[in-house]
Amino acid sequence: MKRRQFLSNTAIGAASATALGACNQANTAPAIQANSLPNLKWRMATSWPKSLDTIFGGADTVCRRVSEMTNGRFRITPYAAGELVGGLEVLDAVQQGTVQCGHTASYYYIGKNPALAFSTSVPFGLNAQQQNSWFYHGGGLEAMQKIYSDFNVINFPAGNTGTQMGGWFKQQINSVTDLNGLKMRIPGLGGQVMARLGVNVQVLPGGEIFLALERGAIDATEWVGPYDDEKLGLNKAAQFYYYPGWWEPGATLEVQVNKSAWDELPKEYQEILTTATMEANLNMLSQYDSLNREALQRLVKGGTKLTPYSREIMQAAQKASFEIYEENAEKDATFKQVYQQWKEFRDQIYQWHQVNELSFANFVSSSEQ
Ligand code: CA
Repeated sequence: MKRRQFLSNTAIGAASATALGACNQANTAPAIQANSLPNLKWRMATSWPKSLDTIFGGADTVCRRVSEMTNGRFRITPYAAGELVGGLEVLDAVQQGTVQCGHTASYYYIGKNPALAFSTSVPFGLNAQQQNSWFYHGGGLEAMQKIYSDFNVINFPAGNTGTQMGGWFKQQINSVTDLNGLKMRIPGLGGQVMARLGVNVQVLPGGEIFLALERGAIDATEWVGPYDDEKLGLNKAAQFYYYPGWWEPGATLEVQVNKSAWDELPKEYQEILTTATMEANLNMLSQYDSLNREALQRLVKGGTKLTPYSREIMQAAQKASFEIYEENAEKDATFKQVYQQWKEFRDQIYQWHQVNELSFANFVSSSEQ
């Protein structure tokens, strides 16, 4: 609370300083005074139910912080999936200007452009830290904004789940053969990879997963991680909890803004909205990591069996993933351009993180104190 108050005071302080500066320098170009900024009300469509305080919380953070930093002049109201438009129709609504902005995941829209997958997460791609490095300092955000400009949309990363879990299984799976014919709920590119390994892929919305798994309509499912999965009750429907979620190593959620609405914003509001998305991006990841740490303990105490994917399955999945990327690159020039740049970044940052982050984490997690 203190920090929020400090930031609010800073914003007001900066505004006052600007106003004072304008008084003292009457002969120079007038600075924009705080009270000249317009009162605006925007609507934000999201892909999430409000019950998911983690993911919906990302949308909430952006809206709340924009209001706080503009002293209530710029208000954005977030709406749950289905309130204004369906959860998978956010991009369309933003593009058409039905709403000024949205909070969603780009990989829901890979049917419109397959390269949009990179803005969320792709199998065997980047973790949250690497994803942020790619976006903010590795050319990633620039590349994605170029693609979104075709939709009259500008996008900003605004949340990350961290590396997800590998899903709930009723039976143990040790080899690729065990996957054959298994009915699993898994969307997106991860589903395409699983299909190549023989899985009978199902796509179900979050609200239907528990019953399908409990009643045996599916044999396995993935969702997000310990905290969200526990909320859906998945631990009561299956015992084996696999890791890691190699298809979503650092899933990024994003704010999409209609470009015409964006261009009409005062520069100050553009800066504030951009800053709020960066805060949400950091806040969601740290919230997930803290909540998942506690939820994992509860799940294991309650009888959940944590189980790693076998090396055989991981290797087969990684091979299939890159086959799919190469095939997409051959078919689609935009995908090829983003993929090649992304792949070079990926190779280099894993080399760097092998030396620092991973070697250190491996030592700490395997050593006795
Ligand atoms: Ca997932």
